[in-house]
Amino acid sequence: MDNVTHAALGIAAGIAVHRRGGSISAAAVAALLAAEAPDLDVFLRSADDPLEAFRWHRHFTHSFAFMPVWALLSAWVTTLFFRRRHNVGWRELFLPGLVGALTHLLCDGCTSYGTMLLWPFTEARYAWDCLPIVDLFATLPLLVLAIMAWRRYSPRLATYALLWFAAYASLGVWQHARAERSLRTWLAQRNIEPARLALKPTISNLFVWRAIWLNDGRWQVAAVRNLPFTDTRLVVGESRAAWSADSAGNPPPYSEGAHLIADFSRFTGGWNTYDVQPGAILVGDIRFAMLPTSSKPLWSVRCAPGGGLADTTLIMDRSLQDGDWSRFGALLSGSDSRFIVIK
Ligand SMILES: [Zn+2]
Repeated sequence: MDNVTHAALGIAAGIAVHRRGGSISAAAVAALLAAEAPDLDVFLRSADDPLEAFRWHRHFTHSFAFMPVWALLSAWVTTLFFRRRHNVGWRELFLPGLVGALTHLLCDGCTSYGTMLLWPFTEARYAWDCLPIVDLFATLPLLVLAIMAWRRYSPRLATYALLWFAAYASLGVWQHARAERSLRTWLAQRNIEPARLALKPTISNLFVWRAIWLNDGRWQVAAVRNLPFTDTRLVVGESRAAWSADSAGNPPPYSEGAHLIADFSRFTGGWNTYDVQPGAILVGDIRFAMLPTSSKPLWSVRCAPGGGLADTTLIMDRSLQDGDWSRFGALLSGSDSRFIVIK
């Protein structure tokens, strides 16, 4: 999730668990540092390897096993800040650091990207799909409460901040389950048995979901809108071919290109699209797009038939078409004329 949310969660968690009689500010700083530290993985990238950043983002730095390292480091750095003004030892800051790091992991786990929470025991990427990557409704009340908690030295306000965020994430779990149930009903009415199905939150709300399912070798996407206590409605979006190991134009086995596609596929969990371009194939990640009804991936690997590293590039496409914001607005407000009610 965004770093403002991580900071606010860290501050609130640090204040909530600070040692009685100890420095609340030192606990808040230690937890804040630990809550930001896992995202230091953004510096793990290489100019030679287009997938390096994907490979390492939310990897071991985002695992429960690594949390004590962040807790120790942040506690130690914080004692350097506070040594002169307070008699603060690293031992009393270890717990705030630990819970600060924990808030980062759980918060990222709630989003859709995929977080290696259980590394090194498994490299599975957990994505609970219940919070958008940026959500003002989740973050603003949390931030205000966390700042007030720090200014007033109030563990009670810090606890309210954490409860607000937990309640919002729980609402996301409930809304996600409702949207998935309705979508499966709609698909069953059409005798569609999807081989895979997922719903992802869309930006800054919990009632328009990006639905993706795999049927007959194609990915289909749709926007599912489910305001609480109303009928769920759906707009069927675009579709795109699914990539497979047998797709025409794949690079030769054991080539650099094949290795990169395998790596990309591990990152996407196999949610791969397939497109043919002049002299190359494009393997994309269907999970994310700029609009919930779009099948154009945010990122893809472009690979020429030779499979050489020089012919393989990572393509990032975050471009918006004219009118995309108003199209998204129509999905949010429910005014899109394509909506179908799911009975
Ligand atoms: Zn993160």
